[in-house]
Amino acid sequence: MQIGFIGLGHMGGPMAINLVKAGHNVKVFDLSAAAIASVVAAGGQAAVSAQNAVQGAEVVISMLPASQHVESLYLGREGQIGLLASMTKGTLVIDSSTIAAATSQKVAQAAQAAGIDFIDAPVSGGVGGAVAGTLTFMVGASATQLERARPVLEKMGANIFHAGDIGAGQTAKICNNMLLGILMIGTSEAMALGVANGLDPKVLAEIMRRSSGGNWALEKYNPYPGVHEAAPASKGYAGGFGTDLMLKDLGLAQENATAVKASTPLGGLARSLYAAHSLGGHGAEDFSSVIKMLQKQG
Ligand code: NAD
Repeated sequence: MQIGFIGLGHMGGPMAINLVKAGHNVKVFDLSAAAIASVVAAGGQAAVSAQNAVQGAEVVISMLPASQHVESLYLGREGQIGLLASMTKGTLVIDSSTIAAATSQKVAQAAQAAGIDFIDAPVSGGVGGAVAGTLTFMVGASATQLERARPVLEKMGANIFHAGDIGAGQTAKICNNMLLGILMIGTSEAMALGVANGLDPKVLAEIMRRSSGGNWALEKYNPYPGVHEAAPASKGYAGGFGTDLMLKDLGLAQENATAVKASTPLGGLARSLYAAHSLGGHGAEDFSSVIKMLQKQG
């Protein structure tokens, strides 16, 4: 299958490589030449522009930072023509970026008018899941659109959930990430408290992992350096899921909570803590670096 892939960052790069490994012809584009080069080294084809990446593609996948990137890519900025105009009728577009459900719905509506299927399929599982091809996809689409997308999604993920209609994947994703953001702060507090009392971080992590406080951060992504060798905490908080991306997702959750009049006190507090952490100069570090706010420094 001819696939166009746009956005080759921490997540998009390994996802595109898994499609190459599955035997697809994958033409890739990113604003960063280095990101393109890493997928080309694995067998992908370099595109000179986003327009070039989607030419002749049956399926187009995007993995971009936020709503504004997805909207301007597909619909165009003022005075520019968006990518939808460069696609042939019948193309399937899978957007796996985490963005506002309303933006997914807006782009999907414009796509439908042009005879193009646009679905939202945000992911969970982190960079490790993207590399291993074990991501969880939360899909907002019709049942027919999901079945069209499934063979491609299966090459990048292990769990594919049909959350509901267009936008529902995004809603599920922000609920999940609001919980993750809260759990990472809670895990950081508990780790910092135990270590301040002289406990060995690895021993404490293992006790809590196997006790009633167990969660994904304790399982795979401990914020304390040296507990999980593969986690960003053990690599100077490089790679992984940026603090600013978590801040974006918690902002989306709060906007949504305001719209439906939901009470999300811990989600709101978590957003403020990640915002303060970002202001402290840690926006580009992995979100688990939030533990620095809770530890004795120096
Ligand atoms: P990233 O910042 O590493 O990558 C984004 C890439 O998009 C960059 O390489 C950037 O150059 C490129 N880009 C931006 N605008 C572009 C444009 N107009 N055309 C082409 N390329 C463009 O981000 P990431 O960590 O890969 O995350 C991508 C999305 O996935 C975000 O919405 C994020 O919230 C979500 N997500 C991330 C993780 C994670 O663990 N990193 C997990 C789940 C979901």
